Amino acid sequence: MLSDLGYTQTSVVGEADLVLLNTCMVREKAARKVYARINEIKNEVRKGGSKTKAGADSPVFGVMGCVAQAEADRLFERSRDIKMVMGTQAIPRLPALMEQLEKGFDRVIDVRLSKESEFLELDAGSRQTKHIAYITITEGCNKFCSFCIVPFTRGRERSRPADRIVGEARALGEQGYQEIHLLGQNVNSYGLSGRYHGNLTSVEDGIEITFAKLLDRVAAESGVPRIKFTTSYPRDFDEEIVRVMETHENLCEWIHLPAQAGSDRVLRAMRRGYTRSEYIEKIEAIKRSKKDIAITGDMIVGFPGETDDDFNETMSLIAEVEYDGLYIFKYSPRPRTPAAAYADSIPEELKTERFLRAQELQDRIQKRRYERYLGRTVEALVEGRSSRSSSDYTGHTRCNKVVNFPIGADALGKLVSVNITGVKSHSLYGEMAGDCF
Ligand code: SAM
Repeated sequence: MLSDLGYTQTSVVGEADLVLLNTCMVREKAARKVYARINEIKNEVRKGGSKTKAGADSPVFGVMGCVAQAEADRLFERSRDIKMVMGTQAIPRLPALMEQLEKGFDRVIDVRLSKESEFLELDAGSRQTKHIAYITITEGCNKFCSFCIVPFTRGRERSRPADRIVGEARALGEQGYQEIHLLGQNVNSYGLSGRYHGNLTSVEDGIEITFAKLLDRVAAESGVPRIKFTTSYPRDFDEEIVRVMETHENLCEWIHLPAQAGSDRVLRAMRRGYTRSEYIEKIEAIKRSKKDIAITGDMIVGFPGETDDDFNETMSLIAEVEYDGLYIFKYSPRPRTPAAAYADSIPEELKTERFLRAQELQDRIQKRRYERYLGRTVEALVEGRSSRSSSDYTGHTRCNKVVNFPIGADALGKLVSVNITGVKSHSLYGEMAGDCF
């Protein structure tokens, strides 16, 4: 959209006429980071002694993403430098905001949320990433887990029409993309959101389609060699998805299925809508698959009222599932969420202690999980040079593990086979084996 308005991208921040800060609010203190980053950029501009391309002393700053949505005009109050606040659904209206600025408005804002908001349709040729492309399939969330800010910052769940998703995937396949990721806060409820709001958006020949059916279509019609999806939600995840993954070679062996807690009492207080044993049933269905599917997840420790027994249930769940990877978060209250009204009862030191214990357990499990790959040959997409060693390439396996290996022939953007010779706590190491796929 900015190209259409005559803008080009620069890697020299001092030259920029416009700086858009995209923000996430799932962590604490997100707004503070925005002000700090603006000051950093202004210092860089000052130090360089340069003016922006348009001859100004400072770029125009805009804030987008969840902080923009949640803080809205409070951002203007805290910083004179911010001229534009663009909420999570306002991106398609960026040109109108820019026009208002050009007309001389001092500050512009659009934080409207609506059930019918449009998806941003991207032209396959305008993407910045070279080998992997991300495709939004749903926006927003209807789950209202008691700790989570997402429904408030990203609005109600909407599914993008299946034909547009499949069309975009096909265009990316034709352009030579090796991997696509289907994205949504909860991809498994794809197509179901219309039921709640009378707003059927994923109608295909008059029939609502499920996530499993969408996955089937994308796998069959896109021509993309590797397809991944995230995030799955335990209540909506079903075995049909595993069956479809087994049917198509290009559906990769990785499922991110966050449990958040191991105790039924805490799961209820979190309003997750499933019990520990229901979660385990879904995990067992994945483990029974004839494909060797890697399972990753998220866990929160220190939720209000979490007792030692509750925490031990989380520890035993981690041990039982044996995740290939796990993001562990210390609970922190988020504005407007129901849990923010509960007493944040677990002292910070205890949260840290539980976090470290859970992490230590996961590290041990992960070491075992990674060691299984020693001596195996895996397929890797060569994504770039390793940041740790200039003589190594880095990429991801089909099961989404980072793999590093020495550079042979120029293989950037190719699928190669790698013999795994070493493991670290969060990555595999190996040697390129023979030809590219
Ligand atoms: N919708 C996705 C899901 O349910 O997995 C992504 C949610 S969020 C972007 C990623 C993770 O952040 C969550 O799965 C949860 O573990 C963590 N998280 C969210 N709110 C949190 C909070 N208030 N305190 C600590 N961790 C939180």
